[in-house]
Amino acid sequence: MTRTALVSGGTRGIGAAISIALKEAGYKVAANYAGNDAVAASFTAETSIPAFKWSVADYDACTAGIAAVEDMLGPVEILVNNAGITRDGMFHKMTRAQWQEVIDTNLNGVFNMTHPVWTGMRERKFGRVVTISSINGQKGQVGQVNYSAAKSGDLGFTKALALEGARFGITVNAVCPGYIATDMVMAVPETVRAGIVAQIPVGRLGEVAEVARCVLFLVSDDAGFITGSTLTANGGQFVI
Ligand code: NDP
Repeated sequence: MTRTALVSGGTRGIGAAISIALKEAGYKVAANYAGNDAVAASFTAETSIPAFKWSVADYDACTAGIAAVEDMLGPVEILVNNAGITRDGMFHKMTRAQWQEVIDTNLNGVFNMTHPVWTGMRERKFGRVVTISSINGQKGQVGQVNYSAAKSGDLGFTKALALEGARFGITVNAVCPGYIATDMVMAVPETVRAGIVAQIPVGRLGEVAEVARCVLFLVSDDAGFITGSTLTANGGQFVI
């Protein structure tokens, strides 16, 4: 049976690596994105993975978008909540808009994407939900009160929903990447990046494919006994 997977924010960065890894593993894959049409178009041209545009921060848009994905590929059995943003700033200068945007995308977005697929997963007695949280949701980070709160909330979401899904063959897990060599991280000045790498015991940034392999494992049929867990992939930077 070919299962259908949906990856939010699946057209670039870590999400693109996850979409591609799932396709290469034989899944039917759809990638969602927010607004970067040019990147999405070239991603689809290169991978043949269809891209669907809507904001995970909008519940009604998620419901409609997921219905469109299911019309094309069949019921979503695997959901990867990867879409995420940063709006960094020291707390005393953080605006309510910076707080709200990050909570709406990184935390409410996980509810908005998971809720519409949940009933179908329960009825079919199978589902895989994996949410990409962050090392900074585990340990906190200066200038990221909004981001750390949302990513930490994702871990609570994961633990509680795992308990509700357990009797229905649905697993719910999180992956917490450390610093990964995405465009965002590679764009910081070399000296700043060297400072980041110096804090990582393995002595390098992570690769997007390394995060994708974590997801691939958690969504597999073989991983049915793993639920409510957090898979940490940070090169030893924060050990819990
Ligand atoms: P990128 O900024 O490279 O890509 C983000 C993706 O999410 C894009 O496809 C973007 O779409 C999409 N997106 C953003 N907002 C929305 C929205 N409201 N609705 C739908 N899609 C949206 O991110 P990364 O690859 O760096 O990060 C991916 C995930 O991993 C995030 O959750 C991030 O917090 C987490 N993470 C990243 C780390 C890193 O080192 N990079 C470390 C730890 C965690 P579009 O292209 O249209 O803008």
